[in-house]
Amino acid sequence: MVNMELFSEPTLTRELVEAVIDLAKKFKEEKGRVPVFMEVCGSHTMALAKTGIKTRLKDDVHLIAGPGCPVCVTEQKSIDAMIQLAEEPNTILCTFGDMMRVPGSASSLMKAKTEGKDIRVIYSPLDSVKIAEENPHKEVVFLGIGFETTIPILALTVREVERKQLTNYSIWMTTKLVEPVLRTLLQSGDVKLDGFLLPGNVSVVVGKQTYHFLADEYGVSGVITGFEPVELLSGLYKLLQLQLENKISILNAYPYVVSDKGNEVAQQLVHTYLETHDEVWRGIGTIPNSGLDLKEQYAKYDAKKKFSISIKEPRKTKCRCGEIVRGAITPEQCVLFNKGCTPTNPIGPCMVSTEGTCAAHYQFMREV
Ligand code: SF4
Repeated sequence: MVNMELFSEPTLTRELVEAVIDLAKKFKEEKGRVPVFMEVCGSHTMALAKTGIKTRLKDDVHLIAGPGCPVCVTEQKSIDAMIQLAEEPNTILCTFGDMMRVPGSASSLMKAKTEGKDIRVIYSPLDSVKIAEENPHKEVVFLGIGFETTIPILALTVREVERKQLTNYSIWMTTKLVEPVLRTLLQSGDVKLDGFLLPGNVSVVVGKQTYHFLADEYGVSGVITGFEPVELLSGLYKLLQLQLENKISILNAYPYVVSDKGNEVAQQLVHTYLETHDEVWRGIGTIPNSGLDLKEQYAKYDAKKKFSISIKEPRKTKCRCGEIVRGAITPEQCVLFNKGCTPTNPIGPCMVSTEGTCAAHYQFMREV
């Protein structure tokens, strides 16, 4: 039994902060620069900002936010497609709340809803199945976004639809996988990293073994951590220890939740219904085999195949979310940050999402 209260205990947190800073100073003495780590997951970004860890460590450890916010990396064309679909008669569109305010080319789902389109915010994809059952004369389309944490629930949803033999239900899949995007980031050389804080939630599903390629092929360490202050700081401490001992390794600092092989039942469920395909990432472009889509035998539930939607290339804006999700710039380097773009008037998804880097900086790291 794990005592979760310990993971946010103030005295322990303060001691760990000082311990991390001590090791970071040693690193700087030895290498003549501050260590650079990337937190892959948007929930880690938000937790590190909210707890003040990012601000407290800013002179000693450079923490870069990575591409792990699903709303932020969903391409604009998917939003435009959803708005177009919502305009179809007899259609109910279902989505997670964060997607409502993401600006598309000319509108947002929120605006479309205020104009009378039937768009519903749901908390679980299974809620959209219930809506389809209750509305047999309407087409229900669910915008399926997410990383490996959410993907098994999408597969479960397809199983449910299949079991219930629903013919008025489909998913617009735009899911993302962590391994291909980390490979792309490392191959691009855009950012030089001394290690990764790896996402505890994704790791529950994929297992520690998924990340061995980081150490074996790219010579970069990673530590899987949870989301509480003590867990995050322990992860950073371990990354610094590895650096100072000149070791490269993948460590699991979340062993009470994450196993080596992950959740094999969830993995099996995913492989039954979904298969890899080339996925487009906002700001990054197409990454081969970086997403999962419905297998051909389930194409009847694939909204991209069921409806004929043609989307124009999105117009260019000054939003720099694409660079933010690659860790190439910080939100403060975008001219719109806290000027044209705020949480009440977001220009890009990184300011909309509850896991977005711009939102995290605006709420918790902005100099007022
Ligand atoms: Fe985009 Fe706004 Fe972030 Fe700038 S501050 S990158 S406009 S979301």
